[in-house]
Amino acid sequence: MVSFIDEILKYQEFDYAAFFNQLTDADVQRIIQKDRLSVFDYLSLLSPVAERHLEAMAQKAHRLTTQHFGKTMLLFTPMYLANYCVNQCLYCGFNVKNKLQRKKLTMDEVAAEAAIVAATGLKHLLILTGESSQQTPVSYIEECIHVLKKYFSCIGIEVYPLSEEEYRQVIAAGADGLTIYQEVYDQETYSELHPAGPKRNYQYRLDAPERACKAGIRTVNIGALLGLNDWRTEAFLSGLHADYLQRKYPEVEVSISPPRMRPHIGGYPPKVIVNDKNLVQYMLAYRLFMPRGGLTVSTRESAELRDRLVKLGVTKMSAGVCTAVGGRADTESVGQFEISDDRSVREMASMLYANGYQPVYKDWQVLIDE
Ligand code: SF4
Repeated sequence: MVSFIDEILKYQEFDYAAFFNQLTDADVQRIIQKDRLSVFDYLSLLSPVAERHLEAMAQKAHRLTTQHFGKTMLLFTPMYLANYCVNQCLYCGFNVKNKLQRKKLTMDEVAAEAAIVAATGLKHLLILTGESSQQTPVSYIEECIHVLKKYFSCIGIEVYPLSEEEYRQVIAAGADGLTIYQEVYDQETYSELHPAGPKRNYQYRLDAPERACKAGIRTVNIGALLGLNDWRTEAFLSGLHADYLQRKYPEVEVSISPPRMRPHIGGYPPKVIVNDKNLVQYMLAYRLFMPRGGLTVSTRESAELRDRLVKLGVTKMSAGVCTAVGGRADTESVGQFEISDDRSVREMASMLYANGYQPVYKDWQVLIDE
């Protein structure tokens, strides 16, 4: 099967430092003026030289975003269904070796959480589980979706990688979006950070978004967890992955997220610090490379920063977030990581209106024959 792994392999020996060293300010200025960017133009905008041109990049990013998306921001919220996990990702609080109360919601609890979220007006939900096909099999995810679709018009899943047939099953149940992060595209770092469990299989995870596209998913959101490896190469490969999917599956709405590491149980420190300026550069470069690509920013980022990012190419933001299983009804539950922006949906909407943006609660309705 043709896979994005073939694209990754092309850059395995690539000398990023040498490429960045030969770039000039004039190169970057010329690229910013272009209508269509090549992959090397994109990489150029991720370079240290391009840091001197963020203002010009920001102006173009804002123009492209309003041209393709208007002054709107889709709001959604995550719901953690379970925190059972068999993996040992060193950077995650749900790592099987961490001592915390493991839990999975019953269907009554799913409905109770759903009612709390739905009362905020949100119609887009992202459901999450840890990675345990035994505790949270596909049949459990389907059952949850059946309950949740009474409350929400769009249900995305952020669960372990599924087979193409399993993606078909959850889509048939009512899911229409997939979020799955490769976490880190560098294969050596990936092996170090995933010492045991099914997640060690780099390529099975890498191909998951493509399997979902083949199965007929409507939206796909991918990305790397920033802090695990050099951010410029991870941003480059994330963008290439999004571009690969968008070109091959034009009917699918492709987005990226640039999540940065947050404190969590287990306390694995980031290997590299990705500062606010780096994050902004990544987002702007991506917007210029993929003018119609979605860009999601979560509550991992602070309220102050998220307010400033609204006009820099973001199209989706989470709001009213809780990262604990059933944490809206049970406030004692421990979350996957600490969030930075704990504003309610109403507060987020007020902030958007104040910036001249319209919060969007619903932009899609799945119609499935019962
Ligand atoms: S990142 Fe996901 S798979 Fe890894 S330990 Fe956390 S919940 Fe499990």
